[in-house]
Amino acid sequence: MNRDGQLWGIDLGGTKIEGVVVSAADPDRVIARTRIPTESASGYAHIVGRVRLVVEQLEAASHMVRPAVIGIGTPGAVEPAAGTLKNSNTTCLNGKPLARDLMDALGTEARLANDANCFVLAEATLGAARGRDVVVGLILGTGVGGGIVVRGRVLDGLHGIAGEWGHNPMCGETTPCYCGRAGCVETVISGPALERFYESRSGERLALAEIVDRAAHDTAAEATLRRLTDKFGAAIAAVINILDPDAIVIGGGVGNIARLYESVTRDAIWRHLFNPELRTELLRPTLGDSAGVFGAALLAGDEG
Ligand SMILES: [Zn+2]
Repeated sequence: MNRDGQLWGIDLGGTKIEGVVVSAADPDRVIARTRIPTESASGYAHIVGRVRLVVEQLEAASHMVRPAVIGIGTPGAVEPAAGTLKNSNTTCLNGKPLARDLMDALGTEARLANDANCFVLAEATLGAARGRDVVVGLILGTGVGGGIVVRGRVLDGLHGIAGEWGHNPMCGETTPCYCGRAGCVETVISGPALERFYESRSGERLALAEIVDRAAHDTAAEATLRRLTDKFGAAIAAVINILDPDAIVIGGGVGNIARLYESVTRDAIWRHLFNPELRTELLRPTLGDSAGVFGAALLAGDEG
């Protein structure tokens, strides 16, 4: 627990930066909260300054000074040793020593983590998977990511990529991925990948939500959903076979699709499972957009 009695977290996104102060003893209790635009087009130094502004706003709102450690969640993978970012969609952050530069700007330790890790830490501690020992959190949206929490702690891994199931190879798939490999899970079941699949079958470009709405009377839409559940099942069974988690929380836009929580998906997982039955819970997140910033705050409470 933070010696200051509060946990401070910042969710550094491509379009907005959100900050929160919660009680360390009762992280459900919000002491202060603020949100400003990232203005990422103005570049790296500007973004660092925007984070500092959020911290100043939190100080003003909470009537307290910043603590010794602030948790920061952001898209991309964090190199554990160097504190640099890679694979961030806010590309001006990539390769930069963000943890060090934030420490210089804030005068306090900035503990960085991938936003998917923050999501799963929050959902495993305060949200849908509260109380479960081993929790996998998935981000299933424009990209496909994930993170792992074991007994309340994020599993980072040697390269900082633990839980990145979105770049596991899918059997029989060959579409090139932005990561430089081909046939990754992300190239098959991300929102854009499913929209491309529907277009290839129907000749029509539609948003995924519309495709879902059409499934009852549109064979191409139904085939798209079937592809999602079949491929999701195969991909996540590989994760379950390795980690055997108690619960899987599915965030992101694609994670809203009801069918992912129905028996058709559980059957698809089971077909690839090294066990006669599937007991792993598939859960919808309960913290919504707040998971990232709460997870960042919880990160600050990790004694390491
Ligand atoms: Zn990939």
